[in-house]
Amino acid sequence: MAELVTTHFGEHFGTLDGFNWAVTRRQALGDLRHFIAHALVDFGTYQDAISDREPLLYHSRLAAAMNIGLLSPQEVCEAVETAWQAGRAPINAAEGFIRQILGWREYVRGIYWQRMPGYKQENRLNARRGLPAFYWHGDTDLRCLQRAIEMTRDNAYAHHIQRLMVTGNFALLCGVSPAALCDWYLAVYADAFEWVELPNTLGMTLYADGGYLGSKPYCASGKYIDRMSDHCRHCRYDVKQVTGDDACPFNSLYWHFLERHRERLKGNQRMKLIYGSWDKMAQSRREAILTQANAFLDRLDTEPPYGRGEHAEGYRRH
Ligand SMILES: Cc1cc2nc3c(=O)[nH]c(=O)nc-3n(C[C@H](O)[C@H](O)[C@H](O)COP(=O)(O)OP(=O)(O)OC[C@H]3O[C@@H](n4cnc5c(N)ncnc54)[C@H](O)[C@@H]3O)c2cc1C
Ligand code: SF4
Repeated sequence: MAELVTTHFGEHFGTLDGFNWAVTRRQALGDLRHFIAHALVDFGTYQDAISDREPLLYHSRLAAAMNIGLLSPQEVCEAVETAWQAGRAPINAAEGFIRQILGWREYVRGIYWQRMPGYKQENRLNARRGLPAFYWHGDTDLRCLQRAIEMTRDNAYAHHIQRLMVTGNFALLCGVSPAALCDWYLAVYADAFEWVELPNTLGMTLYADGGYLGSKPYCASGKYIDRMSDHCRHCRYDVKQVTGDDACPFNSLYWHFLERHRERLKGNQRMKLIYGSWDKMAQSRREAILTQANAFLDRLDTEPPYGRGEHAEGYRRH
């Protein structure tokens, strides 16, 4: 099978080197047992952390097996509950993990089946930019993005915070169109299925449903990435700077995003503080930040933008 894939899809994104995804029920049960024995105990503490070196940390890597039916979500939750009852995992790990499945997985599933087919056409922030070209090769100076894309290419995997707050956040700040970004997420992850990918990308990550899934956009500056990861110390940019040649691009893009969508977002109670901080800055400072972001966006190499609701044929997977 691997030979067949190499022959026909050798030029595609990703690699088969070190392929170790479960393809049988027995292997999937082995992965579940491995997760409970070795990683569950620290899942709660480190579930939002990002490492420059370690793609998996304490995550389960069980989504693909659940999505293709090798494991049932219920048996996974029950196995974790049993481990907690036996004292083999603390409550923050068991509760945190079960909540991902019982809460998020079922929640996005409900949204997809309730809101489709119209949901896929949503683009409330009118985001039109094409996908940044480096999403297909990872050749960028932005270390956090480089590592998230390299890990994705090597493992067909990135954990939730990498998807949401690194590749997703950057696309949100740059105004990448939902169709372009959804096609990328569908193409690159082993666990990708539209019913779970679409609400996560279009709704949670890009806020393209206008807040139906989440009550505020998950937009963040470099400060968030620096707090949650060790990427910034390996980066050519300075996460503390907002303007200038060495400034972390996430910083000016963050304010640019907020200013671009002021009319839509300013009334959101959860955004009030942040708009307050922006408005308190001197006019000249705000202008310098917006100029910095515009210059970055002008230089950004992107694929051609999609029209409304269009998806690239080659990456469509239903
Ligand atoms: C932009 C974006 C796209 C995504 N696309 C997919 C996708 O196509 N398929 C997919 O299965 N998940 C998707 N997710 C959700 C989540 O990132 C993955 O389920 C998770 O990273 C898979 O790794 P894991 O099995 O190690 O998860 P763990 O961190 O070990 O979490 C345990 C389980 O909880 C479930 N889960 C956790 N978060 C979510 C979530 N937000 N939505 C649904 N289920 C969740 C998964 O079944 C996962 O296996 C996406 C998230 C984002 C932000
Ligand atoms: S400095 Fe900015 S671009 Fe570099 S790793 Fe940190 S957040 Fe990413």
